[in-house]
Amino acid sequence: AKESGRNNFQFYRPEMTKHALEQMQMKTSLRQAIDNEEFIIHYQPQVDIATDTLVGIEALLRWQHPSKGLLTPKKFISLAEETGMILEIDDWVMHTTMKQVSKWYHDGLDPGKLALNISMRHLEAPNFIYRIQNTMDSYGFKPEWLELEITEGHMMKNAMEIINKLKQVSKLGINISIDDFGTGYSSLSLLKRLPINRLKIDKSFIEDIPEDEEDLTIINSIIALAKSLNLKVIAEGVETIEQINFLKSKKCKYVQGHYYFYPMSADELQEILLTNNE
Ligand code: C2E
Ligand code: CA
Ligand code: CA
Ligand code: CA
Repeated sequence: AKESGRNNFQFYRPEMTKHALEQMQMKTSLRQAIDNEEFIIHYQPQVDIATDTLVGIEALLRWQHPSKGLLTPKKFISLAEETGMILEIDDWVMHTTMKQVSKWYHDGLDPGKLALNISMRHLEAPNFIYRIQNTMDSYGFKPEWLELEITEGHMMKNAMEIINKLKQVSKLGINISIDDFGTGYSSLSLLKRLPINRLKIDKSFIEDIPEDEEDLTIINSIIALAKSLNLKVIAEGVETIEQINFLKSKKCKYVQGHYYFYPMSADELQEILLTNNE
């Protein structure tokens, strides 16, 4: 509930200033973070629930902040997007992960597909395709190892341009999935025109399984929709056995979430890949 009263004015102003100041400091330190490479990647496995096998890994960005500790993207991604710094950050992520994943493949390990989160700003950049191609070439990274996760967010605004770009991506042999599916605004007709391979059911629909009837209905329709469009489905944010059982009964083949794995460092993931290889 919003408190309104005579104290609002006095209370609000210093807060605003504090917020503005914090934003400014954050902007400066984000700039330094890029220059000093203060970022690291955590990887979270994606699992085939029928066989309990690891089929892919999502790269999740972390900022090792000099004084605030390890920060998740919630604390800095929107600022990075507003300032355009996300282009450099996503570029760093692409280089770091492709280099790492290529090395794993060349060492005989099998991390499955690498899923990368691509912000709209990055996708819209004129040299986006060139940058992906170039980075893959530098590390001997094969396009079939890659899956791009994009959100429905503002897709409608630039539909033609985005469809064309994703078609080029798809032609390279790269997979594309729609992230946070069900929370955005993409229309069914747009979905049909996009060259996508997979829908990722947003975790907000998963968290209240099996209590929330509405969520169960939504999940059912997403799975039916995917089937009719010949798309795969993955559920994110899966934490409990009840959720796994429900998803299994609905023939949702892939999941990602704390039930199986938390996001982890490259070293920790490598241990798992080595064990899988034995
Ligand atoms: P997302 O793509 O929807 O990523 C899934 C988020 O769910 C991750 O949060 C992950 O840590 C969290 N998660 C995984 N399993 C569970 C679970 O079982 N339960 C719950 N409650 N949460 C779980 P994270 O790492 O904080 O990332 C937040 C968002 O930041 C991501 O959401 C993605 O949109 C963005 N992001 C992450 N890495 C990058 C990146 O390299 N580039 C860009 N542009 N965005 C990124
Ligand atoms: Ca994602
Ligand atoms: Ca999500
Ligand atoms: Ca819910």
